[in-house]
Amino acid sequence: MPLIVQKYGGTSVASLEHIRRVAERVAKTYDQGNDVIVVLSAMAGVTDGLINMARKITETPEKQELDVLLATGEQTTAALLAMTLKAMNYPAKSLLGFQAEVLTDRAFGNARIMDIGASRIKDLVARRTIVVVAGFQGADADGNITTLGRGGSDTSAVAIAFAVKADMCEIYTDVDGIYTADPGICKKARKLYTVSYDEMLETASLGAKVLQIRSVEFAKKYNVPVHVRSSFSEEEGTMLVNEATNMEQPVVMGVTCNKNEARITLKNVPDQPGIASKIFSPVAEAGIVVDMIIQNTRSEGLTDLTFTVPKISFKDAMEIEKKVAAEIKAEDVFGDENIAKISVTGVGMKSHSGVAATMFSTLAAVNINILMISTSEIRISCVVEENYAELAVRVLHTAFGLDKEEHAPV
Ligand code: ASP
Ligand code: MG
Repeated sequence: MPLIVQKYGGTSVASLEHIRRVAERVAKTYDQGNDVIVVLSAMAGVTDGLINMARKITETPEKQELDVLLATGEQTTAALLAMTLKAMNYPAKSLLGFQAEVLTDRAFGNARIMDIGASRIKDLVARRTIVVVAGFQGADADGNITTLGRGGSDTSAVAIAFAVKADMCEIYTDVDGIYTADPGICKKARKLYTVSYDEMLETASLGAKVLQIRSVEFAKKYNVPVHVRSSFSEEEGTMLVNEATNMEQPVVMGVTCNKNEARITLKNVPDQPGIASKIFSPVAEAGIVVDMIIQNTRSEGLTDLTFTVPKISFKDAMEIEKKVAAEIKAEDVFGDENIAKISVTGVGMKSHSGVAATMFSTLAAVNINILMISTSEIRISCVVEENYAELAVRVLHTAFGLDKEEHAPV
């Protein structure tokens, strides 16, 4: 009998009415002759509400107690769904993370799954019981409750699917799949039927809204088949697959836009060994993640260095660099928060040349100036002025042949 893991996100279990619809979907899958394991999130907004409550007591709640609190969100939905299924005369049983033997490390608030025993899940499934597991939670080796980081129930689902060797891990969410671009920016964006794990990891801005990135890393590592689909429709969503079985294999699968970075430039930096380390070590020590870096051509022993950081770390990074600039005798430090990083991604790039050239000439044709460039094996990114971000996404979407076919009005 096929074994299917279905994960429902917060918006899919937002009320008792929503939970009833989830139960119907689960029951239907079961009636079609599948064994079903359900993994749940908390009701939409509940985790945030619990965090806010804890913060009213103290700005820095102890992480271990916070995990005990946050785990209640998923405990609630798991119990409610199991009750609903039973009321519909289906055999169902809810399990908390520790009962499902989700063993994690001790990193409270952001724990990693070390192992999933799943013997209890397997026993129940063998008796044709629908198992409802509270996502987002596990326990460390001492039995303390842990949580897996925000959005972590996706990772619970993928990990459980791997542990029980499920035939499919279906992630039900409020979007119906992965698109070639954000449909809010680009009306001609199309839904993709297959996307490779690597593409999903590279297009974090398209993907991260849909899936916790860690779940994709897990799925890739263990080759877990994942189907991202909407709980509000019957339509097929997007399958995450490995590169070799990615049927669509376009040169470029999508265009993304990230407005969450800011850039910092140090002007007229002495061009000497050790300078880059002086500039970047204090930023790293402050836990700030640097993304792109460029160093301009030198003149008279001086060089300009520009890099990007997340916008939320911008002020801290600027302060650090002002001190560094004084120390290394750089002339000045500028910051710019009004930038956007536009990326085109596709595994097909590995075997096709000219993608970068097409990207640059397409942006040039509409007079968009490129401020920075970076590449990976399957992605090319350009930083542009924020005002031009949407235009850049649209022209690139067209240039790479991603626009959906226009239907003639009937
Ligand atoms: N309830 C948790 C959160 O809001 C986990 C999840 O929804 O995946 O982050
Ligand atoms: Mg989520």
